Amino acid sequence: MATLQLNNIVKDFGGTQVIKGVDLEVKDREFVVFVGPSGCGKSTLMRMIAGLESTTSGEIAIDGERINEVGPADRGLAMVFQSYALYPHMSVEDNMGFSLRLAKVPKAERREKVLAAARILQLEPLLDRKPRALSGGQRQRVAIGRAIVRNPSIFLFDEPLSNLDAALRVQMRIELARLHEELDATMIYVTHDQIEAMTMADKIVVLQDGLVEQIGSPMALYHHPCNRFVAGFIGSPK
Ligand code: ADP
Ligand code: MG
Repeated sequence: MATLQLNNIVKDFGGTQVIKGVDLEVKDREFVVFVGPSGCGKSTLMRMIAGLESTTSGEIAIDGERINEVGPADRGLAMVFQSYALYPHMSVEDNMGFSLRLAKVPKAERREKVLAAARILQLEPLLDRKPRALSGGQRQRVAIGRAIVRNPSIFLFDEPLSNLDAALRVQMRIELARLHEELDATMIYVTHDQIEAMTMADKIVVLQDGLVEQIGSPMALYHHPCNRFVAGFIGSPK
């Protein structure tokens, strides 16, 4: 179970307010997509949820428990970024198991978890390879694998496919949808790609300038955008 609540979240960077009071509930196992123009605060919001950025005011809660003061490693979340720097000198297996090693998980258990994740991501034949011997899509799968081994209840993806070419993006979208089913996890996914938002989301959150413009299912936003901005972003004919 993992429900996430944001209650009137605000973020100031040196006197400039970049998140201006965001309220949001993400339900257990929901696939929620954040969309909005560059600079509107998507990454900042994700980093606040992950605990990588402090919250100026407001409350973040998981299953009703305030987590503002909980460190990133103890929130039960895992984040996958756009730039998924892998350790070049480590094998795929060691890259995927690295956070478990830091957490002092014994070797046998580490291997078991990495193998399970590799199976889901079809990375089993590549476990001994170094990152330089992988394609872009395979590297991105390793980055997702690093998140899966930690068995998070909530996955945070910040534009994870934007460095991949169009064909690979389509394939990865399908894989992520399958992963969502298979892992029974809650997922929050940031993209500026309208098609990704429309096809992947249970619920879309449209952000502009640090505020939520509208929240709804892809069809609700498409048919009933609350203003021109949302209509433009969703590609609705209005
Ligand atoms: P997005 O991911 O939607 O493109 P960001 O969350 O990265 O937007 O940025 C939102 C705003 O906050 C931008 O104006 C950005 O310049 C500013 N910002 C982000 N991180 C910092 C920081 N560490 N210090 C100061 N300003 C920041
Ligand atoms: Mg961003």
